[in-house]
Amino acid sequence: MNTQRHRFDTVIIGSGLAGLRASLEAIKGGSVAVLSKLYPTRSHSTAAQGGIGAALGNEEPDDPEWHFYDTVKGSDFLGDQDAIEYMCYSAIPTVIELEHMGVPFSRTPEGKIAQRRFGGHTKYFGAEPVRRACYSADRTGHAVLHCLYEQALKNRVQFFDEFQVLDIVVENGVAQGVIALELKSGDLHLFESKAVVVASGGFGKIFKVTSNAFATTGECLSILFEQGLPLEDLEFFQFHPTGLYKLGILITEGARGEGGVLLNGKGERFMERYAPTLKDLAPRDVVARAILREIMEGRGIDGKDYVHLDLTHLDPKILEKRLPEISSFCKIYLGLDPALSPIPVVPTAHYAMGGIPTDKKGRVLRDVDGSYVPGLYAAGECACVSVHGANRLGCNSLLDTLVFGRETGTDINRNLKDLSLGKIPPHRVDKVIAFLQFLRSNKGKERVATLRDALQGIMMNKVSVFRTREGLFEALEELQVLRDRFQEIELMDKSGIFNQEMLSALELYHMINLAEALVFSALVREESRGAHYREDFPERDDVNWLKHTFVYKTSSGIDYKFKPVVITKFKPTERTF
Ligand SMILES: Cc1cc2nc3c(=O)[nH]c(=O)nc-3n(C[C@H](O)[C@H](O)[C@H](O)COP(=O)(O)OP(=O)(O)OC[C@H]3O[C@@H](n4cnc5c(N)ncnc54)[C@H](O)[C@@H]3O)c2cc1C
Repeated sequence: MNTQRHRFDTVIIGSGLAGLRASLEAIKGGSVAVLSKLYPTRSHSTAAQGGIGAALGNEEPDDPEWHFYDTVKGSDFLGDQDAIEYMCYSAIPTVIELEHMGVPFSRTPEGKIAQRRFGGHTKYFGAEPVRRACYSADRTGHAVLHCLYEQALKNRVQFFDEFQVLDIVVENGVAQGVIALELKSGDLHLFESKAVVVASGGFGKIFKVTSNAFATTGECLSILFEQGLPLEDLEFFQFHPTGLYKLGILITEGARGEGGVLLNGKGERFMERYAPTLKDLAPRDVVARAILREIMEGRGIDGKDYVHLDLTHLDPKILEKRLPEISSFCKIYLGLDPALSPIPVVPTAHYAMGGIPTDKKGRVLRDVDGSYVPGLYAAGECACVSVHGANRLGCNSLLDTLVFGRETGTDINRNLKDLSLGKIPPHRVDKVIAFLQFLRSNKGKERVATLRDALQGIMMNKVSVFRTREGLFEALEELQVLRDRFQEIELMDKSGIFNQEMLSALELYHMINLAEALVFSALVREESRGAHYREDFPERDDVNWLKHTFVYKTSSGIDYKFKPVVITKFKPTERTF
């Protein structure tokens, strides 16, 4: 294979909000390359609809301390409070900075940034919902991503579009660089650098029904895991309550923030029973479980497996001005107008709370004692700081990407003079080439699409909102079978250029790895907390389980350790909404 070598101070994997925000900071200290397997503005961040949380108080009284409290409580007390406090207090300057960079936020009549309600965000420490989400209609991610991309181009960040990272090289405990495939030429590129930032997003595609884009497959997490680095709190995977029935496409929580309500088959506003104070705006884990309970107890619409999200009582101007995108999704995919008919919805796999463990500076942790890998950073959805704990509040992910993306870039600049330029040893390149050759030349009866369907089915049926020990054990066994079947894979497309089938196979290999690590973490945690609900252990257990899970790959299989939760101000209490 042709190989080319590049040298940069910083190499960033991913051009979503986390990668771009990190690039804007790192470029102040040295040269920066951003690699993305997609054209940059196609990153999943562009799909973010509802908004970004910041206690600006533009529409009613608000306070960063309330935001801090809500995030801790939303996380079911598993979030690290030092990181959460930092994020919530940084939110206000972060949003104002975006405004100054040119993000076209929606406005109040007097011209301030408009704000709306979102699940779990309250005033006076949980008393009632508050307008905290800053938005740009229901295309917030799109508006912010385009703005940051323009800023990065202006500041001479170098982009390598449609470059798929195949290896993140850590040798002798230090980051050296990355190996990537250029899709259009089929050439290998070695990027040697002083710092590597992993900002590769989530991995919702391991589930059958998901709001996540096609490319959110999580291979970068698996690449680090395979090298013996830990992954944190993987068992916490969020199901968003309102995905379009059967399709999983997201209907933003902003729809309920603007006054939409959930109704069961009897026409009841059932959230009043599950969360008397916040009702439809309770945190996502609570609402997702409530919807599935209604369905399981026969109160779905016409006894079927979905409920209704009703927006028909709203002023049609609200739909037109503040929710145009979801209105058009409903028309295109379901042939219905949400101004006239309720929308059929079910929970959809949405967000990974866990990921690559980092400290508040974005440095990747190698162990539960806080030691880190010099030169290796992670930010955004692939990382776990952990500000979301066991359950993320809506609008806190965009905030997390921006705040910790910036922290990452700042720390790189601070340390650049002490980091040396990495070197990628030949054996790492040989390994990558051997794997590509295996994929392209292997003969067997298995197809990528069949195995991917099987994986997504296992995860959906046995590892989604409700979990049991038996189900999780079965899932582990079935994943092992899939791993064996993967060895029998054969591709139809043997070419070296734009070979999407080969890339899908590669992603599938890593998705199986990641799924296994997730199921293992879910088996270890014998309690229910946030998004992780074990029917055999239905209560939260702070005595034994108020701690983070770290899973590692060892020569004898997966192993685990625990890390204490950082608790500063808010002691765990019962969680009622
Ligand atoms: C439909 C939807 C709506 C959402 N709405 C909101 C919202 O309103 N508010 C909110 O706070 N959050 C929301 N979220 C969550 C939030 O959008 C994401 O968590 C966040 O945008 C992730 O940003 P990121 O920068 O970490 O990754 P992404 O934006 O996912 O970007 C990942 C990048 O990594 C690159 N990449 C991945 N693997 C490789 C590889 N192997 N080689 C090269 N490049 C690679 C991709 O090309 C991409 O550029 C929403 C999520 C979804 C799916």
